[in-house]
Order: sequence, then C-alpha cells, then structure tokens
Amino acid sequence: MSEKVYTKQEQVPATTEITEVAPNILRTQLPIDMPGLGHVNMYVLEDSRGVAVVDPGLPGKATWRAINSRLAEIGIPLKRVHSIIVTHSHPDHFGGAGRLRAETGADIITHESFRMFFDPTEPDDVDVETVAAAPRVPFGETPWGGPGHSLPWRRKMYYKGSSRFPTLFRAPKPTIRLAEGEHISLAGREWMAIHTPGHTEDHLCLFDPEAGVMLCGDHVLPTITPHISGMTKDADPLKGFFDSLDKVGAFGSQVKISLPAHGLPFANLALRCDQIKEHHIGRLDKLRTVASELDKPLTVTEYSGHLFSPRAQGTMADSETYAHLEHLRIAGEFDYKVREGIREYIRVN
Ligand SMILES: [Zn+2]
Ligand SMILES: [Zn+2]
Repeated sequence: MSEKVYTKQEQVPATTEITEVAPNILRTQLPIDMPGLGHVNMYVLEDSRGVAVVDPGLPGKATWRAINSRLAEIGIPLKRVHSIIVTHSHPDHFGGAGRLRAETGADIITHESFRMFFDPTEPDDVDVETVAAAPRVPFGETPWGGPGHSLPWRRKMYYKGSSRFPTLFRAPKPTIRLAEGEHISLAGREWMAIHTPGHTEDHLCLFDPEAGVMLCGDHVLPTITPHISGMTKDADPLKGFFDSLDKVGAFGSQVKISLPAHGLPFANLALRCDQIKEHHIGRLDKLRTVASELDKPLTVTEYSGHLFSPRAQGTMADSETYAHLEHLRIAGEFDYKVREGIREYIRVN
C-alpha cells in the first residue's frame, strides 16, 4: 500500500507526537475530520498552577480520549488544567472546552466578542451550512440565492441538545473575556490579547513579547489560507482581515515563533501575513479581470466559478467570493443590481 501524500501540513492526520515548541509550551495534536484539515494543535502551556490548553478540538468522544491521553503522556493529571483558551468560535477549537471546564473547573478564555453560532438569545431560524463556516444568516437569504445555510439536522440536534448530555458536548461559556491589549498570565509569562477579526469576528491571538511567541489560531496558517466568510455583521470582512493581518504582521520583528492551530510552528510571521494578503489581492484582481472581460452582470456563484476549482465550489466558496465582491463594491469599483432576488455584480470603475 502506498502512503498518502499530503501537500499541505494542515491536512496531515494527528499523531501522538508531543514537541516542546517554546519554553513551557508543548504542541500536541488532536484528530479532526474536516475538509482540508487532519488535526488541530492543542498547545499545552505549563506553569506553577498547572496547565492551560489552547483549542481543545472538536466535540465528541475521540477528542476527549485524545485530550486525556496527551495529558497523561505529558504527566499532567486532568485536574491540573486551570485554563482553556479558545481562539475563536469554530467547533474544531471550542469542542472540548465545555466538558474540560465541567470536569476541572478551568477558566474558558476567549476574546470579549466570542459568540457561539447557536447562541440561545438568537431566533430559532438561524441555521448554518457547515459548522466550519458558521455564518449567521436566516435560511435562504444569501445575496447569491444559494441554498442558504442549513446544518444537517442530526448535527444540529447534536450541538443544540447535547448540553443535556454532558459526556457528548457542552457549549463553552467563557469565564474570562479578553479585551484588546489586555494581559493574561499563563505558562509563566504575560500574554497580550490581540483581536484579529477576519476568519471569524471573534478571533483572538495571544502574544508574548518577552519570548517572542504568537499564538495565532486560524488567523495565520502556514500553508493554507484561512476561510473568509462574507456572511458576517461586518460590512467588509475582507478589509477587517487585511487590517488584522497588518496588525499581527507589525509585531513580526519581535516574533520568534508563531504557533498556528493547524500545521507546524513557523518563524517568519510578517512574511506569511504578506503572502496571505497577496493571495486575496490576486483574487480581487481576478474578479476585476473576469468582470471586464465578460462585461455583463454576474452572480456571486458565477464569479466563484472563476476563483475556485470545481472541487471547491459550494457555499463556503460563494461566501468567500461574496466577501471579495463586497470589498470591491465598498471601494467603488463594483456595483450590483438585484434580479429575482439575486445580486448580480458588475464592474463600474
Ligand atoms: Zn476556524
Ligand atoms: Zn480551525
């Protein structure tokens, strides 16, 4: 049997390997099964109080087993977990947090804007297409007239109802919500909270200026570009993402090592931020070219066909294309008109 070759680090399935990536910081990997992702890094931050863990995986038993075996391997009893950092509201990051808190009393630390997509204060008709994208839009109201966002009911019931079955999944309720620039002490050092909206509106990076360590979640990944959803309450989420890349990139000279949620730790943060920006700038150029060449109003899905490979087509691709088209519209380069409830964009500048 030939071994499967992975072209991207983020796709490689989780191994049980544990590596010290910075003083008092260990990288462990938890198994996940999501499109294009084979593992999520659960960093373990050790200090005199015990440990903090970062992004404890998807909901479910496999995650719970993996968390327990990784901690056992390190020699840390579960009850020594005093903090759980959740970088953003995606299930591969918050999945194990609620149960960990239930069993240990650990704090759940997020950005102050952290919000679950099924927040009980929201109306019941709020559905999502994939848990990875988790956009908050009523069914069928996408500006491109796509299928809208409906979570398979089985999974929806699982996430919504399973708070009654704590062995399956508990919704994480943050106990410490960090504001921009706020400091927190973990792994024997001071971390600064950096709000990095883009991939999600509530994304948090943590920066330790003394040792030059950046916990960057899904904001900056080593070999893939994070998904940008157009369906957020921000008018221009791509602009928000660019600003967040600039913000984090500006620390570049002080950062020795960046610790992403997927893939391997990497050294040159400012360069990687630039590369990700370039990728999106290239896509904006592509949209300009397509609009000029075809010279007729096109739907979001039609534009999406020019940006993404046939294999990648779907709601997530449409949502990201929509973010790019809105960025161009707000810049005055594109405009749209609505035909039969569906937006058609055209280049005007
Ligand atoms: Zn994410
Ligand atoms: Zn992720």
